[in-house]
Amino acid sequence: MATMFEAWQDVLRRIDEAVVSIQRPRDSVRLLAVSKTFPAESVRALYGHGQHAFGENYVQEFIAKREALADLDGIEWHFIGPLQSNKTRSVAEGADWVHAIDRLKIAERLSAQRPDACGELNVCLQVNVSGETSKSGVAPDGVAALAAEVAALPRLKLRGLMCIPEPTDDKRKLSSQFALLRKLQQGLNDLGYQLDTLSMGMSADLDIAIAEGATLVRIGTAIFGQRTAAH
Ligand SMILES: *Cc1c(COP(=O)(O)O)cnc(C)c1O
Repeated sequence: MATMFEAWQDVLRRIDEAVVSIQRPRDSVRLLAVSKTFPAESVRALYGHGQHAFGENYVQEFIAKREALADLDGIEWHFIGPLQSNKTRSVAEGADWVHAIDRLKIAERLSAQRPDACGELNVCLQVNVSGETSKSGVAPDGVAALAAEVAALPRLKLRGLMCIPEPTDDKRKLSSQFALLRKLQQGLNDLGYQLDTLSMGMSADLDIAIAEGATLVRIGTAIFGQRTAAH
């Protein structure tokens, strides 16, 4: 079995190949290592190899891991899970990024609770690109309105859009859902926003996401291995 280090290197290679094949600059896609359900020691080990950006989904687990790893200089924490309004404070205080903003109330709380000393909190709006009713995310036709509201909040910095496409092996469907996110982002930038982040692509579809313009891929399984049930 491959070690975590080898798996991480494989992912970096996959990113590189995808980026090169569409002739984008090598540094135009960042890897976010999604460490949810895996122990702080795995994060520490990967950090030691040079991976500095990590993603977490669950507030309690995020707090615990962040504390356990507080000695790691320059580690960057991305909160990528859905966020309930009564749990925003520790994320506002401890995260560098939040990816799954899909309503104003959450954004308002994060902005109000963000300590001045931390600088702006980078945020992405999660968009429901598949139209599945069970999916979180703002509907495509609501993106412009939410972007305007979030961009006006003082301690948040709107960086871009994020999506989780429909779970399917149909590459054309995945491509078209990623392309929709890119189109929405382009539409905002045409209105004068300066969004630089398209957070899309996971272990199974990072190549397709990069081909459609991803700038940040969120990879768990392909680095850390299978998660156990319930996650
Ligand atoms: C768990 C998770 C990931 C990582 O998914 P893998 O398929 O394990 O790479 C990415 N993004 C979000 C929002 C997640 O919840």
